[in-house]
Amino acid sequence: MELLKERIRTDGVIKPGNVLKVDSFLNHQMDIALFNEIGKEFARRFADVKIDKILTIEASGIGIAAIVAQYFDVPVVFAKKSQSINLDGTMLSAPVESFTHKRKYDVIVASRFLRPEESVLIIDDFLANGCAALGLCQIVEAAHASVAGIGIVIEKGFQTGGSMLRDRGLRVESLAIIESMDDETQTIEFR
Ligand code: 5GP
Repeated sequence: MELLKERIRTDGVIKPGNVLKVDSFLNHQMDIALFNEIGKEFARRFADVKIDKILTIEASGIGIAAIVAQYFDVPVVFAKKSQSINLDGTMLSAPVESFTHKRKYDVIVASRFLRPEESVLIIDDFLANGCAALGLCQIVEAAHASVAGIGIVIEKGFQTGGSMLRDRGLRVESLAIIESMDDETQTIEFR
């Protein structure tokens, strides 16, 4: 998606440790016009599959998923990262290791929001080692629902997540795939 790649080139900041900061349009301040274009593009790419629900993970995934869902006309469920007193009923959970915070936590979804017959599209902002996406897939499996696909805004193609998920037979659609990036020169190459 050229519009997105252009935005990453102009406003993305490459940090040491293979971290790309895009908080001026995606992760902190949100460019809703761009989110709408992202929604249209995911709708185009997943037009051939039945989608009943979108599943994402708090916090950065929520804003994106909420806009994207309007193009599929389906509800959004977001996995929570901590137990809350507001969670009741049966819970589905999966362990996830955070790429940006380097710690492990459980992601949790109330089982009543994922039904066995549902076809679920997983949406997230970044794909690095694939731990977050895999955790969401495990939750969908635990609900006996099916993963229709995984929609990623920015995939860091030089990290292992994309191939790990595709090797498992999962359909991953990434709108921008970064081949390489360099924090010293602030240069970025797309696939
Ligand atoms: P993974 O689980 O695939 O290793 O990492 C994906 C998660 O880590 C995403 O949900 C995203 O929040 C965060 N993440 C991974 N890499 C980056 C990055 O380069 N920049 C930002 N802003 N977040 C990232």
